[in-house]
Amino acid sequence: MADFVQHLGIGDYLREAGVPSDTTNFETAYSTLVGDPRGSDIREELETRIYEYFRSLEMPDSPTIYDHLLLAMRPKDVIATFNWDPFLLEAVQRNNRVLKGRVPALLFLHGNVAAGFCPKDRVHGFRGAVCSKCKEPMRGVPLLYPIAAKNYENDPSIAASWAFMKLALKKTFMFTVFGYGAPSSDTAALSLLREAWGDVEKRSLEQTEIIDIRPKEELAKTWEPFIHTHHYETHDDFFDSWIAKHPRRSGEAYWNQYMMAKFISNNRIPKGGSLEELWDWYQPLFEAEQSQGDERL
Ligand SMILES: [Zn+2]
Repeated sequence: MADFVQHLGIGDYLREAGVPSDTTNFETAYSTLVGDPRGSDIREELETRIYEYFRSLEMPDSPTIYDHLLLAMRPKDVIATFNWDPFLLEAVQRNNRVLKGRVPALLFLHGNVAAGFCPKDRVHGFRGAVCSKCKEPMRGVPLLYPIAAKNYENDPSIAASWAFMKLALKKTFMFTVFGYGAPSSDTAALSLLREAWGDVEKRSLEQTEIIDIRPKEELAKTWEPFIHTHHYETHDDFFDSWIAKHPRRSGEAYWNQYMMAKFISNNRIPKGGSLEELWDWYQPLFEAEQSQGDERL
């Protein structure tokens, strides 16, 4: 967010709206606009610029972290993100050749430029794609800005994502936080997450994992409400996480190692290589799931 103003080329708009010229931080700039009724036109312009900016970005052909997350997780899993960029949804489209709809639940807790929603049927999907029920094109969902006081109930799509998130957090066994710094501007989000997680003393089996480059002590302090005693790990590299060391089997691997005291070996996601090679690598895992005959796997 720090250099977002520069990336978007919106410095002039902000100055026009009376935002002090030394404000380069998007968060501060946006908070100033929200507090000023004259700022609504500028805010609309800002939103258009953000959509255009993200639409102009392209994913490389080689596997990205988004491809890895989708391939390494199963439909019973949930990926919740605060990111507005379209990459996760673009990755769904390109990996669907092998995933065939068996993707984790995707929740965009602050909206997303590529996400669509049909409020009538409460169907989530791609922006502009046809709703599976009413066959009307799905409208986009709003982007929630980085200000402290967010209202998650105003938009039906975002409210539905949060409702699902709270339910998922209550039931989850492994909780992984990936590159999310829990900034003070997300006070509302964090208190909702904490509330859903509930009393940490009652989450005695759950494992919390944090993938972040910040020091371990700092991470443990930030995520304290989600960590039962010593039940956490931190990694500065995604490829050292349970998801990457045991793709599509992280829960089973963890349970076998720590609850059943079995020796298990890693089955690391291969690095390098093409997306097609990665798909081939995953085939035995997909086949094992299909042979179980359970779509929920
Ligand atoms: Zn519909």
